[in-house]
Amino acid sequence: MAVRQRQHEQDPMIRRTNFDAVESNLTDEQAKIEASRCLNCKNPKCVDGCPVNINIPAFIKEIKEGNIEKAGEVIRESSLLPSVCGRVCPQERQCEGKCILGIKSEPIAIGALERYVGDATNIKIGEIKETGKKVAIVGSGCAGITAAADLRKAGHEVVVFEALHKLGGVLRYGIPPFRLPRTFLDKEIKNLKDMGVKFITNVVVGKSITIKQLEEDGFDAIVIGSGAGLPKMMGIAGENLNGVFSANEFLTRVNLMQANMEETPTPIRVGEKVAIIGGGNVAMDAARVAVRIGFKEVYIVYRRTETELPARLEEIRHAKEEGVIFKFLHAPKEIYNKDGYVAGMQFEIMELGEPDESGRRKPVSTGKTVDLDVDTVIVALGTGPNPTIQASMLRDNMKLETNPKGYIIIDAETGATSVDKVYAGGDVAPTGSSTAINAMGAGKRAAKAINEYLETI
Ligand code: FAD
Ligand code: SF4
Repeated sequence: MAVRQRQHEQDPMIRRTNFDAVESNLTDEQAKIEASRCLNCKNPKCVDGCPVNINIPAFIKEIKEGNIEKAGEVIRESSLLPSVCGRVCPQERQCEGKCILGIKSEPIAIGALERYVGDATNIKIGEIKETGKKVAIVGSGCAGITAAADLRKAGHEVVVFEALHKLGGVLRYGIPPFRLPRTFLDKEIKNLKDMGVKFITNVVVGKSITIKQLEEDGFDAIVIGSGAGLPKMMGIAGENLNGVFSANEFLTRVNLMQANMEETPTPIRVGEKVAIIGGGNVAMDAARVAVRIGFKEVYIVYRRTETELPARLEEIRHAKEEGVIFKFLHAPKEIYNKDGYVAGMQFEIMELGEPDESGRRKPVSTGKTVDLDVDTVIVALGTGPNPTIQASMLRDNMKLETNPKGYIIIDAETGATSVDKVYAGGDVAPTGSSTAINAMGAGKRAAKAINEYLETI
């Protein structure tokens, strides 16, 4: 059997100086070879591993037979954004993690094949029969745009309200372009515009307009896909010093506002040494962006060990290759202050104890501490939902149920909230891990439920 095909990657020493895509696509020949490795299993485990159950063997078979358009159609029955998911899904924990070939050798490169097909093909827009019904969507991230596509296909007028001046949510302001080139995101958004989805930017729902007003304006249903953009901080001394950023702010400033460019109204102070606190994809992205904008020493500081790092394996490998230094079993204790600026950081040295409720061994303090010489700190410890919409609904006497952390409570099958005609999905109402594909799945489920509901009125 042929070996697993690999995409060409930019040399790490070169790519650490640019924002171009790290990897190119598989060539046509490589894609065919990779597709021919698939056993077309009768009971394909890979499909169970995919959160939206793409018919993986079927699209791989089409590649093998040279029917790329057909392969694209098969994928898009389940996923609107194959170019995105092929690049950002944690395949090793999803489809590829279940591939039978992985037991004895290497699994099929399902992600690489998915993006190969996604890049080469386009959504097919059939004839749309107008229903006269209209749906408002809050947020243009994965959940919002997926719901928008399926609702528009069903013939409803769809208006997406986005708080920022650009569309795409985390795919635009969070994930850096060297991981997700913007051409593909722009292509998908253009497709939606061509289908007739309307986008209104710079509108903060809950402030510029409320959910109640949207209802009064005649929207028959509303989908809240406002994500979870509120950063969690550490709660330690020194957190308010100059030079401390949340990863969200840091990435947004660079990805969306080009803060690293010379001529910018919102510049970022590039220091010498930066500690990024956390071990997920967001931490890896912040570290790799810090390398590219000129920090000389970039540390990822994580309180468990390498085995527990939650980031995608590929991002960890790429970060290491690009010179990011990992400090494991370090927990933040204090940020030192010199004239209002970060002047180093103190960490507690940890060791792993008993497993916690997540099943991972819990870090416990050894009582020892260590100092790290840094002038910048980026906190990547996760985010929570912004309470703006929830608070405005409360003021309008709309009883939206949320959990104690402020996430909207939904029916996992339909996305229905406790408020009539209001649905939610994605990071604002997680029903699994907060990933791009899960947000898309939620958008699809909400759209299906709304389409069914709108048929009844
Ligand atoms: P978002 O993408 O956050 O979109 C929400 C949108 O709503 C935003 O555009 C926001 O501006 C808008 N909005 C918010 N409030 C309002 C309001 N009041 N009015 C109007 N608009 C509003 N997942 C993976 O699967 N793989 C990865 O490698 C990966 N890497 C990541 C890296 C980073 C840096 C981050 C931050 C996340 C990453 N994720 C990754 C997670 C994944 O991107 C998210 O789970 C997913 O994009 C969530 O989609 P969403 O539609 O729920 O929210
Ligand atoms: Fe192909 Fe692996 Fe899926 Fe089997 S499990 S159908 S070999 S991708």
